Amino acid sequence: MSQTPAKNGCQCCVVGGGPAGVVLSLLLARKGVRVTLLESHQDFDRDFRGDTLHPSTMELMDQLRLADALLEIPHTKLDVVRMQSPAETVTFADFRRLKTRFPFITLIPQTKFLDLLAEEAEKYPNFTLKMGALADELIQEEGICRGVTFRTSHGEEECRADLTVACDGRFSKLRKLAGLEPIKASPPMDVLWFRLTRKPGDKLGVTFRVKSGQMAVILEREDHWQLAYLILKGGFHELREHGLDHFRQDLAALVPEFADRLDELTDWKQITPLNVEASRLTQWHVPGLLLIGDAAHVMSPVGGVGINYAVQDAVEAANVLTERLLNGTVTDEHLAAIQKRRAFPVKVIQRFQEVVQQRIVKAGLDDSRPFRPPWFLKLPLIRRLPAHLIAFGVSRSRLID
Ligand SMILES: Cc1cc2nc3c(=O)[nH]c(=O)nc-3n(C[C@H](O)[C@H](O)[C@H](O)COP(=O)(O)OP(=O)(O)OC[C@H]3O[C@@H](n4cnc5c(N)ncnc54)[C@H](O)[C@@H]3O)c2cc1C
Repeated sequence: MSQTPAKNGCQCCVVGGGPAGVVLSLLLARKGVRVTLLESHQDFDRDFRGDTLHPSTMELMDQLRLADALLEIPHTKLDVVRMQSPAETVTFADFRRLKTRFPFITLIPQTKFLDLLAEEAEKYPNFTLKMGALADELIQEEGICRGVTFRTSHGEEECRADLTVACDGRFSKLRKLAGLEPIKASPPMDVLWFRLTRKPGDKLGVTFRVKSGQMAVILEREDHWQLAYLILKGGFHELREHGLDHFRQDLAALVPEFADRLDELTDWKQITPLNVEASRLTQWHVPGLLLIGDAAHVMSPVGGVGINYAVQDAVEAANVLTERLLNGTVTDEHLAAIQKRRAFPVKVIQRFQEVVQQRIVKAGLDDSRPFRPPWFLKLPLIRRLPAHLIAFGVSRSRLID
């Protein structure tokens, strides 16, 4: 594919204002690329969509001189994750040893992160943000994608562009329109997200608790506890049938520290189920269209790496594309180069997630035998691996500035 610049359009149309789309738009806009970002929602507000910013994302923010502003937003820091079972407590990931200015995971509302980046991007006159804009068709000319049509409350419009980047998430419409089919894995679990009040004097810290076929990750947030309760895949319906009382009793057995506040859970609506999926495309591009973030690879929640990997895709895409978009010389080979840089780290982390799912999650949810943390977590060298993989991946993507 050789792309000649679209006559009246922007140079890059980014579809989807999640972490991948907002970061990519900002990185391109600050270098002068004419970029339009289309987001179907009217705001960036999301509940339980991942609020974890990993060291690599914080390093990028630092490079953009946004880290300090970000850290002024109320947040909590997670520097070590311990797995507690009746048998023993082992360290699952210790970020304190990482060589970085940010040896921790920053827990910050995703909406605040995206707001800050979008505000930064809006300082550039060559950046256009269209909220409430739902992309619905690819504009195809001679087999090359030349942008998208999108719907707003004002009707149908089009965004013509030299390159379109699909950052439209796990249910990517553009992926379907391009005829790309991901390879799917079968994670053994689903996750229930909910909140409980945080009281003065609570001493729990970030915990990964396993007991009698039950498992939960407990995250310390500014003013509440965020819980991820793991269940066997497809088990939510059965859990609901047993009733909320039963669920509260199970929780009290797993996390007795919260027994005094489980009556806060009065309605299943307070509990957000996540149908855990994992998949990846074998081809991330067609002429004129690149897919990154969840649109290219849906991540299991193990390690909370979805945002991190979406942001790193955006960094590599910006590294390869910025100059070429500016002078209208993007080719298929450049899109393939982005996939080449990112596909391997994605494959490795997904393999790591599969191991954790099988050796820890599946074993922990099996109530027929006592859970024992896998032996490899106790080997000093291997013990460092989860923190490094979760924080940076196998290769550390850095923005070429
Ligand atoms: C319940 C839940 C909990 C999670 N927890 C974590 C966590 O703790 N840590 C973590 O790192 N990850 C977590 N994730 C995963 C993480 O949210 C994703 O991996 C990450 O957001 C991917 O970023 P993205 O930009 O690729 O896609 P998304 O964040 O999904 O963004 C896609 C955007 O595209 C927009 N869009 C979709 N279709 C269109 C269209 N046709 N036109 C215009 N806009 C469109 C959507 O509105 C959305 O804003 C969680 C996910 C879920 C569902």
